[in-house]
Amino acid sequence: MSRKNLLTQITECLKLESEQRSHAEIDPAVLKDFMQLGKNAAAKPADQQVNQAPKRNTLPEIRRPSPSPASNNLKETLPVKSDNENTPVEKIDLSKMTYEDLEKKAAGCTRCRLSKSRTNPVFADGNRKAELMFIGEGPGRDEDEQGVPFVGRAGQLLTKMIEAMQFARKDVYIANIVKCRPPENRAPMDDEAEQCLPYLLRQIELIQPKVIVLLGAVPLKYILGLTGITRIRGNWKEFKGIKVMPTLHPAYLLRNPPAKKDAWDDLQKVMAVFGKQHKGTSKN
Ligand code: URA
Repeated sequence: MSRKNLLTQITECLKLESEQRSHAEIDPAVLKDFMQLGKNAAAKPADQQVNQAPKRNTLPEIRRPSPSPASNNLKETLPVKSDNENTPVEKIDLSKMTYEDLEKKAAGCTRCRLSKSRTNPVFADGNRKAELMFIGEGPGRDEDEQGVPFVGRAGQLLTKMIEAMQFARKDVYIANIVKCRPPENRAPMDDEAEQCLPYLLRQIELIQPKVIVLLGAVPLKYILGLTGITRIRGNWKEFKGIKVMPTLHPAYLLRNPPAKKDAWDDLQKVMAVFGKQHKGTSKN
């Protein structure tokens, strides 16, 4: 199906849906926006793109050996390890921490090298009672400056994706695998992710979302222990009894706008769980 046909079909479906459901305030222009944002970016060489999102190491595939996934062996206590490998630090049990205490703990965290170069830790954004949670990779420059996840160009696209799904950004919960910015926007290293994951695991426990959307290869690797986002995306997985949908990272979509169609297929499957289904191109 051509892009134009797809867009027309989606737009019609959304119109129909908003007529049938007075509470569904989807503006077809929002979806169009998502599909069109960065549309022309691929036409130019990457180094000529204006306002291009920082090129992260969010490759669709990661070929480094995988550490054990959070689902297997990550205890919800912080490892007894500090930046100074020889100085054991007190083992802290996060499993009973309140949200406020957890956030405070993360704000002062020095468990890994990323804490040394951060401006602000980036804990999360959104609604603590959210049924829908998004997990990204780690803060970029804008996020590091503002202390809020997904506020740069990739973040703007994520917001459009959320709105195209008929959610408001304030109603979902957004977090990352690591809370401090990796230098040069590189992907987090295994030990950094391992030190940081207990915070995220406790966040998941406290939020208890119905669905988690994993954005790209990095959360796929550290939450599920899987590699191959382009192959796995769009297939339902499970993490601690929660439905998990891996999809493509918005920064990747900015660099590869035609892949937005795939991401939209994935997101429609998530919408269906929340009764926001409409005629689409979804296969299962
Ligand atoms: N990319 C991410 O993975 N997370 C952010 O917070 C911003 C960009």
